[in-house]
Amino acid sequence: MGEFELIRKYFVRPDTLSRVPIGDDCAVLTPPPAGVENCFTTDMLVAGRHFLADVDPESLGHKALAVNLSDLAAMGATPQAFLLSLGLPAADEQWLEAFARGLFALADAHACTLIGGDTTRAPITVINIAALGTVRAGRGILRSGALPGHDLWVSGTLGDASAGLAALQGSNALAPAHREFCVQRLLRPAPRVALGLALGGIATSMLDLSDGMAGDLPHILTASGVAAQVEVRALPLSAALQTLLFEQAVKHAVAGGDDYELLFTAAPDARDTIAQLQDKIELPLTRIGHIDTGAAHVTWLQDGVPLAHEFAGFDHFR
Ligand code: ADP
Ligand code: MG
Repeated sequence: MGEFELIRKYFVRPDTLSRVPIGDDCAVLTPPPAGVENCFTTDMLVAGRHFLADVDPESLGHKALAVNLSDLAAMGATPQAFLLSLGLPAADEQWLEAFARGLFALADAHACTLIGGDTTRAPITVINIAALGTVRAGRGILRSGALPGHDLWVSGTLGDASAGLAALQGSNALAPAHREFCVQRLLRPAPRVALGLALGGIATSMLDLSDGMAGDLPHILTASGVAAQVEVRALPLSAALQTLLFEQAVKHAVAGGDDYELLFTAAPDARDTIAQLQDKIELPLTRIGHIDTGAAHVTWLQDGVPLAHEFAGFDHFR
């Protein structure tokens, strides 16, 4: 099958935010009305780096979009549209059909439409999505708003994806049902879009956890010019991770990547509001520490006592 047949068959759909259908040189969008701003983000998945080459393509389609929607969520933005660039070793129809199924299921769930892309042959599979969202002007939740005295919160549970990856790589630390839960958390992260939107006016800073809290929390601290204390006993752990040795679970939760949970700060007077929000969106929200004055540094506490060692997050070039 040719390049354009492939695009038409698997990726051109009637619903698109673009004023012109996919197939022209550019997508054409009407600018947002006054009082609304656009947010753009892009995220790339590379075979062998971000996913195993034999991963099921439906999950991959889901994840390629999920990681981008997670960035929009971390801004408090509403997803609108995305561009899809594919580098593929071959036009494998079974693979494409499943990939598109996973991709569009998530896209439809968030009313986020495909408006174009690029398709090329490549030595390995590379997937790049660029996503567009909207936010009320000036209301995007930045990394720079954390103040000393603010609480530090996180959504969901931490470390599941990291434990899932360890399981795929041969670790048998988890019982089968727990293992399956963790692998699903790795392969099919749920972007916390509803939470991101609900935290508008509540969160003072926010990001999505992709490289582990030890890697990502310092981004908030650097941008805000503050320090943080985190109590490892407070880290939200799934039933699966609670079956591991505590030290092992903490390592997954703090240094493991691919959580796609939201990490945010809020003033202490927002605690009741956040507790209510947790019930409304049916996602645990856990207070794990607080913001301090000082240089951008995390103090990790266990039962209130500083841990002697540091944690490192994931870094592609280290
Ligand atoms: P150009 O020649 O300008 O590079 P292409 O031939 O790459 O354009 O793409 C032709 C059309 O198909 C464009 O409208 C482009 O947005 C769209 N397109 C290409 N690849 C994809 C894809 N993977 N998903 C959706 N649209 C795509
Ligand atoms: Mg092109």
